[in-house]
Amino acid sequence: MNETVDVAIVGSGFAGLGAAVRLAEAGRGDFVILEKGESVGGTWRDNTYPGCACDVQSHLYSFSFAPNPNWTRNFARQPEIRAYLESLTDRYGLRDRLRFGREITGLEWDGSRWEVRSADGEVVHARAVVWGTGPLHIPSLPEIEGLDEFTGAVFHSSRWDHDRDLRGRRVAVIGTGASAIQFVPQIQPEVASLTLFQRTAPWVLPKPDREIPGLLRRIYQALPLVQRLQRAIIYGRNEMLVGGFLKPARMKIIEGFARAYLDRKFADRPDLKAKLTPDFTIGCKRILMSNDYYSALKRDNVAVVTDGIERVTATGVVTADGVEHEVDTIIFGTGFRVGEGMGTVAVTGRDGVKLDDVWADGPEALLGTTVAGFPNLFMMIGPNTGLGHSSMVYMIESQTSFLLDALRLVDAHGATALDTRRDRQDAFNVEVQRRLEGSVWNTGGCKSWYLDAQGNNRTVWPGYTFDYRRRTRKVNLPDHELVH
Ligand code: NAP
Repeated sequence: MNETVDVAIVGSGFAGLGAAVRLAEAGRGDFVILEKGESVGGTWRDNTYPGCACDVQSHLYSFSFAPNPNWTRNFARQPEIRAYLESLTDRYGLRDRLRFGREITGLEWDGSRWEVRSADGEVVHARAVVWGTGPLHIPSLPEIEGLDEFTGAVFHSSRWDHDRDLRGRRVAVIGTGASAIQFVPQIQPEVASLTLFQRTAPWVLPKPDREIPGLLRRIYQALPLVQRLQRAIIYGRNEMLVGGFLKPARMKIIEGFARAYLDRKFADRPDLKAKLTPDFTIGCKRILMSNDYYSALKRDNVAVVTDGIERVTATGVVTADGVEHEVDTIIFGTGFRVGEGMGTVAVTGRDGVKLDDVWADGPEALLGTTVAGFPNLFMMIGPNTGLGHSSMVYMIESQTSFLLDALRLVDAHGATALDTRRDRQDAFNVEVQRRLEGSVWNTGGCKSWYLDAQGNNRTVWPGYTFDYRRRTRKVNLPDHELVH
């Protein structure tokens, strides 16, 4: 069934659904949401590992136009966030716009509209495309010699194998990022042994997580302003971190808290403390939060291995010191192939220009949303919109304002599309890179997925999120060209 619509939205996570709601509310109901999976939720559908939760406070990690007074914790867990997105879908009547099982393989601009092709051979024609697949959804599985010969179970944290009963198993966990520190304490009590392969020790802070009492939830229901105030307080507190990110010397205060936490937790285990003390400035990699990770690592059935992984055998993992660690299950908590959200998709813009070629030296956009030569293509969470301190939902919401204003402008001028001017895009990216130069992400002494192979930071927004919101509230027309 080929369709022609005004807007094709790709992905039904926070980005896709957020764009859909804003379009619907603005009276632009002529859109479809193309989703490769069989239900909505994006990362909150895919990640079902034990302990999966958000490390941004729920009052802020939700849409301002759809507050949820019923969050049961201040850091909601995955099932609740997924349910929030499902309920949003119903509440805004988005079900009939959803097209499941549509894995997009190609986008081509034909001069007046986009041809959106999916793997099943379906084609949607649309004047505008909202690309909402997110930068962190293709699992990164390291190529380790011998992995094919391993006779046990192997899976990635974002593709958790719930059929694999871990009780009594000898489990290897590879990676110590935001995902691993959430599931390690959950599986530790049930496995026979847990060998944690750590390449880089992360900074961990206690998580101020607690239940939201029923009374408070009822107050939020009755007085939405109270919840809005709570959201504003959380927002303001989080933004205070930005000053430290941009002037890393200031991060010493937070690093002091993290060091004190390490000292407290490992007073009796100097061996573990040495292994778990990071060697870079806090904030250079995402700051992790957990109340039970360190405690889990102290348990008798856990070993933290810091020697590099050499290879995998049929029955274990061999490290650089020659030791074979016998296991029957390997869980990769090794993160995602960042920025490859569009990697499997052939995108052809004006005059046959290919996004792959334009981005050969790394992805760049204007305000992380539009790319010169690709009219009416709006990327949600595009290059340099990532955050280390606050809610991506806030950034997504900012981008949806930009989207609505762009469509309004196109209509108001009787144009076909809005295309970004290359010189403006370049100037914007020079500014972004200059602002990132002294930042903790670039100078904090770590190797992170924030930086690409050439050491360029193509992921992080270099400042306050309210600055991003201000700049995306309206389209600055001189930055663009109207295509007729
Ligand atoms: P991640 O932060 O990229 O961490 C990956 C881990 O795997 C790191 O410890 C990394 O070590 C290790 N690793 C990668 N390749 C390896 C290899 N070849 N050998 C050994 N170790 C290897 O991935 P993630 O934990 O899945 O989190 C990804 C992102 O998802 C987060 O930064 C965050 O944005 C998001 N997330 C958010 C939440 C939340 O609460 N909101 C929860 C989970 C995830 P190195 O440090 O040495 O590279």
